[in-house]
Amino acid sequence: MSLFVREIPCQELVELVTAYFDGSLSRSERRRFRAHIRGCDHCTTYVEQMREVIEATGTLTEEDIDPVAREELMEAFRGWKAGR
Ligand SMILES: [Zn+2]
Repeated sequence: MSLFVREIPCQELVELVTAYFDGSLSRSERRRFRAHIRGCDHCTTYVEQMREVIEATGTLTEEDIDPVAREELMEAFRGWKAGR
């Protein structure tokens, strides 16, 4: 298990995703964000979905994130972590 991957919990990444895409993360936050995505299939999928939203709408706000999809993702993360 890599410490690198665990630097940002998945929940935190989900919270940071809008800031990531609007460029408001600091340099070190972006680096940790990208490092997490590299090691986490769940978040890779999530970020790709967010990218599609941005390409479709030209923007991304918290309101653009389907609350149901978001909750399902959080559940998946919880189950995934509990399984370790
Ligand atoms: Zn993750």
